[in-house]
Amino acid sequence: QKYCKLSGEIQDACCDYATVEQTNNDLFAALHDIVATPYFRYHKVDLFRECPFWQEDGSCMNRACSVETTEEEHIPEAWRAQALGKLKPTEASPTTEPSEDECAISDSDFCVLEDELDSEGVYVDLLENPERFTGYAGQSASRVWKAIYEENCFAPVPYIDPSRSTSEGGTGFAPLNGFGMSSLPSGPGGGGWGDSEKKLIGSLAGPKDGGDEICLEKRVFYRVISGLHASISIHICDDYLDQQTGEWAPNLQCFITRIGQHPERLQNVYFTYVLLLRALSKSGPQLLRTLQDTSSEPATIEKLSTLVDVATGCPSTFDETSMFSGPSAEILKTEFKEHFRNVSRIMDCVGCDKCRLWGKMQVTGLGTALKLLFSYDGESALPLPSSGAVDKDDPSAIVLSRSEVVAFVNTLHRLSESLAAVDKFRLLWAHRNDKR
Ligand code: FAD
Repeated sequence: QKYCKLSGEIQDACCDYATVEQTNNDLFAALHDIVATPYFRYHKVDLFRECPFWQEDGSCMNRACSVETTEEEHIPEAWRAQALGKLKPTEASPTTEPSEDECAISDSDFCVLEDELDSEGVYVDLLENPERFTGYAGQSASRVWKAIYEENCFAPVPYIDPSRSTSEGGTGFAPLNGFGMSSLPSGPGGGGWGDSEKKLIGSLAGPKDGGDEICLEKRVFYRVISGLHASISIHICDDYLDQQTGEWAPNLQCFITRIGQHPERLQNVYFTYVLLLRALSKSGPQLLRTLQDTSSEPATIEKLSTLVDVATGCPSTFDETSMFSGPSAEILKTEFKEHFRNVSRIMDCVGCDKCRLWGKMQVTGLGTALKLLFSYDGESALPLPSSGAVDKDDPSAIVLSRSEVVAFVNTLHRLSESLAAVDKFRLLWAHRNDKR
């Protein structure tokens, strides 16, 4: 199916679209399987933190916005706060010192992480609370996206207020090209930047950056955010509530409007997936060790091991050593982390519980991938948060918690499902055209 078919090399990565699709075919079933295990389906999250940036007044009252929480007694004992409390590091441990805003942010972290011992947190069964259409939209939702794009992409991005655009979610600058990629300006192998994205990226440039010459790090930051946003949109369209019939089903028109008309968004979904895949293949043994050290069932460790084998058996997807390697590497890395941490704080401003749950989880998952790619040498054993064995002065000594691994694997699954959903929409598109 040609609709929304991307071909050629993926810009900023080191693989092509066809390879990524093949890899996703190989991984999809295993990912689907692993997120259904108890280790990966129960997640603790604080849904009640105040928005630190503005008074959030847009609480979504739709039923679909609510989250079913799970009583602690249903959570396998080893992962309950009480059991984790027993593992709490000693006060002398450098990882436990609370910072001023209560959250200990280690220098290696790209996210403001929640404390699994936090009494405000609730347990959520992710399978019971799928990411799907909730009806959350309007001012509250657009304010969050606006804050992310305008205030956190290193420099202001021209945000187009959806309420002033002509079509649902239309940006006003996207090429309404009739869905095929063929009418895109050609980039490398047809996978280069679209005009609309060039405008966005161009405007990301700071005073010293000029248009397309924006540095790789800033481009990657933008692409990961846009890829996440597009992936969320794909899930909304894939699991959409027809308010006339009350039925949940894929909504092709929703997909066309939000993704099909904006090929650069789809490119960013692939890019984000590629980055996550590389984090998996780079740090597979350490992820497995975290599972072993946090009471995972042996069968789940086996499943993760299979996933890691498939990912490492695939051609390399992303070269993380190409980033943060220039003369201002350290400054850029610090900025990159600060901005990404801000994105994680903004998630507390999402006015729909279900969206906040998945937003927080996926930002943590992406932050974990960034940490594995850029704060970890790929070889040292990862110390457990509880071990107190972290050497502050050793840059390779990073801590990985169960929550981060759960968020990372579930985020990879979300992106994998997005790519699978795109396949579904290609078929629906072809089917609709056949009928005409
Ligand atoms: P929006 O998606 O709100 O986009 C706003 C503007 O951003 C667009 O007009 C466009 O200019 C730009 N834009 C859109 N996509 C991209 C992209 N990929 N890259 C770059 N720029 C882009 N709703 C649900 O129904 N279920 C959910 O689970 C859900 N989760 C959410 C999680 C978060 C963190 C947030 C902030 C919102 C969530 N929402 C969810 C709301 C949803 O994302 C939309 O905001 C809402 O559906 C309204 O969509 P829209 O078409 O007006 O444009």
